Amino acid sequence: GSPLASQNSGSTVVRKKLMGYVGFANLPNQVHRKSVRKGFHFTTMVVGESGLGKSTLINTLFNTQLYPAKEPLPPSAERPKTVSIESISADIEENGVRLRLTVVDTPGFGDFVNNDESWKPIVDNIESRFDAYLEQENRVNRQKIVDNRVHACLYFIQPTGHSLKPIDIEFMRRLHAKVNLIPIIAKADTLTDDEVFNFKQRVLADIAFHNIHIFQAPIYENEDEETVAENEEIASKIPFAVVGSNQEVQTADGRTVRGRSYPWGVIEVDNEDHCDFVKLRQMLIRTYMEELREHTNNVLYENWRSEKLLGMGVVQDISVFKEINPAAKTAEERALHETKLAKMEAEMKMVFQQKVQEKEAKLKQSEEELYSRHRDMKDSLERQRLELEDKKRRLESGRPLTPERTNPTKKKGFLRT
Ligand code: GDP
Repeated sequence: GSPLASQNSGSTVVRKKLMGYVGFANLPNQVHRKSVRKGFHFTTMVVGESGLGKSTLINTLFNTQLYPAKEPLPPSAERPKTVSIESISADIEENGVRLRLTVVDTPGFGDFVNNDESWKPIVDNIESRFDAYLEQENRVNRQKIVDNRVHACLYFIQPTGHSLKPIDIEFMRRLHAKVNLIPIIAKADTLTDDEVFNFKQRVLADIAFHNIHIFQAPIYENEDEETVAENEEIASKIPFAVVGSNQEVQTADGRTVRGRSYPWGVIEVDNEDHCDFVKLRQMLIRTYMEELREHTNNVLYENWRSEKLLGMGVVQDISVFKEINPAAKTAEERALHETKLAKMEAEMKMVFQQKVQEKEAKLKQSEEELYSRHRDMKDSLERQRLELEDKKRRLESGRPLTPERTNPTKKKGFLRT
């Protein structure tokens, strides 16, 4: 065994070399088999004005006819006046892995004259799904928890080429703390490449300006270069400019592809040079589906849950709350830091004042010393001057020097010379 030992919550963990095969290297396979057997649940929400191609894109993404082709409503038809929430589920399977896919549609969003509260039914729906999950967690029997929480929200931006509309900003601001937002530029085939590029910049600038958090794929350390490059490539495409189509069309060089046919050529859905559809699918399904589920559970749901329980007066383990609530944690850290700074400043001021006082006292003392020395010197000079003057007068008048008029301390030596 290696002598390396680490201290872990009071108990010592010693690294040992195994003498033979034990079998726990198979753990990942066990987890893998079990989760494959159980299957996966994934719920994605689509939001955006009608006609932006939401149903088409979902069908294209999962390669199924999840949504029946919509007949456009005749102008005379009775239109709903509120945003409704509809969900469709489908069990799909790929290489033996089963996925229960639920798509939550929000027809009516952005379609009214007054769209002020369009976001509200959507927030309510997301929260009621959190509620349902919390209720299951609080049951005595928690064996079969069904996760119907929304794991991702595809937000369709109209391809105006300008910037985000107030309704887009309002929706994202209301939702970003509750769901993984993935912004999408709809029907990208209606814009030129340059227009797409500029529009993306403006959308990103708006998102940053309004402090909106969109889903960011985490970049882990210790990952191989290829994976890092791939992840960065995905991140660089946000907001994904997509084209949806379930139609197979013929390209000029005779290939059959999913795409949209125009007089000037064919836009291929699955061609990365034509649009970001492949990258969006990679983000949503191939690379980050589990990450989206985890982030929903560990961050979005957890924050909502803590707030809800605190609001209900449940005294939480505050340290746990802080762990999962980075905002509370930073606020507390900042407060601590500020008190520390203030204390340090006060101490420094005190020391400084003390030093100044000492210095002043010393200066005063040396000033006094100087002054008295100066006075002594002046006195003695004055005495010498008087003496000399006296002597001079005597010499001039020819009178001998009288001992009583001279300085008693100096007269003898002076007289004899
Ligand atoms: P939804 O109301 O948002 O679900 O939109 P639909 O998926 O029903 O699509 C509305 C119309 O837009 C249909 O006629 C689609 O064929 C068309 N459409 C869908 N996706 C695209 C796209 O990427 N580009 C273009 N040009 N048209 C699209």
